Amino acid sequence: MISRVLKEIEIMAKGHGLKGEYEEIKIKGVSTDSRRIKSGQLFVPIVGENFNGHQFISDAIEKGATGAIWCESEPIPDIDFPFILVKDTLTSIQELAKAYRNQLDTKVIGITGSNGKTSTKDILASLLKTKYKTHKTFANLNNHLGVPLTILELEEDTEMAVVEMGMDHLGDIELLTSIASPDVAVITNIGEAHLDYLKTKTNIVKAKLEILKGLNPNGLFVYFGDDPLLSNTIKNMNTNYKTVTFGKNLTNTYIPEIISIEENGTYFRLDKLDCPTFFLSMVGKHQVYNATAAVTVARYFGISLEQIQEGLSKIEVTGMRNELIYTEKYTILNDSYKSNPTSLLSALETLYSFKNYKQKIAVLGDMNGLGIEEINMHMEIGKKIEPDKIDYLITIGSLAANIAKAAKSRFPDNRVFSFTNKALLVEKLKEIIQYKSMVLIKGSRELKLEDIVKALISEN
Ligand code: ATP
Ligand code: MG
Repeated sequence: MISRVLKEIEIMAKGHGLKGEYEEIKIKGVSTDSRRIKSGQLFVPIVGENFNGHQFISDAIEKGATGAIWCESEPIPDIDFPFILVKDTLTSIQELAKAYRNQLDTKVIGITGSNGKTSTKDILASLLKTKYKTHKTFANLNNHLGVPLTILELEEDTEMAVVEMGMDHLGDIELLTSIASPDVAVITNIGEAHLDYLKTKTNIVKAKLEILKGLNPNGLFVYFGDDPLLSNTIKNMNTNYKTVTFGKNLTNTYIPEIISIEENGTYFRLDKLDCPTFFLSMVGKHQVYNATAAVTVARYFGISLEQIQEGLSKIEVTGMRNELIYTEKYTILNDSYKSNPTSLLSALETLYSFKNYKQKIAVLGDMNGLGIEEINMHMEIGKKIEPDKIDYLITIGSLAANIAKAAKSRFPDNRVFSFTNKALLVEKLKEIIQYKSMVLIKGSRELKLEDIVKALISEN
């Protein structure tokens, strides 16, 4: 993590006002959370919607903070402590991260896309780790604060940093890419997430492509080649980056071929690589595309095919995404982290692909953030669900009820249910669930469907 004297921090964060006597004090690491700050770290209080971090300065000092960045418009505490003054603390942490990144020789891989960022990040870090000192975004900390904090965690000798970049609005990725200055930019795919803010798919494409604004001109650009809007937009941009695409279409540079889907992972090959079959220790066909993007980057950095095989077989995944939980009686496919049409269809595909289960149940919650077409998008999913491949469809939430509505006529009686209350849903599930059932649980973050997962686990 960053280690600098306060005078350097003041310059890097574009601050002022640090008293001369404190200039040579060294900090190691940065924290915005007074509860978790460690001795010797720099405290950067953030002003949020519900709290103002400046209120917690005494806690931070008590826990061992060595200095603090401080907003000029906040009253400065009358204590003997090093403060660096700035106009805005969030901007200052972004400036600090940007300056720090420019001082490092680390290769940065920036990953954006509507779905699959975290998964691709976890896969790629696992591959790069086989050869390099590698750091990756912790969990899903992919926003205007998470990205700078990820950069500030890098060590002077970190060789590779895999940085997830998320967004809600146009301009978000532009900011993140200007902080991380990636050497490689990856766009995993384009879906319908954030239509409520962005309105059109054209805007979603535009927003993801902002990643190129910070990409090293000699760097590598990797993107999902099966989305016509994305591909055509890129073609019309006339970029000079070394570019690699992946996907199903024959025009792609890398086309994965799935050999077999097993419960504990997927066997696949890449046509362009003279390689053995890879085993990816993650479930779901879509993860093979994420893995292909990751392999492309790993090859660019000289990871051998053997090292790739090793890395793919032991990925440390971030929870609640395609996570298989085995209980004595049944198996849960926990995908309760988020939901949108693209990721939901891929989760359903995964559910269909499992063999050896007596019964399959899909528990689907609302997909939020879809904008004015939200009801139709839920109905469309309902029309696409394949009744011969699942036994029960249970929805939760008023939007998801439209999935059930559109699917119901194609299912036998008493196979489709809708709820707005989780406890009632769990009761129903317990009533129908049999030994050796597979239950998919998926919905938008706000629904917290992990509660249903917990209820099912505790029942066992
Ligand atoms: P977030 O925007 O919340 O950070 P993310 O882009 O990091 O999401 P993941 O956490 O990797 O995405 O996966 C989220 C969901 O999308 C999971 O349900 C996963 O199964 C699904 N998913 C992952 N990769 C793909 C893909 N390439 N295509 C379709 N769905 C995918
Ligand atoms: Mg993520």
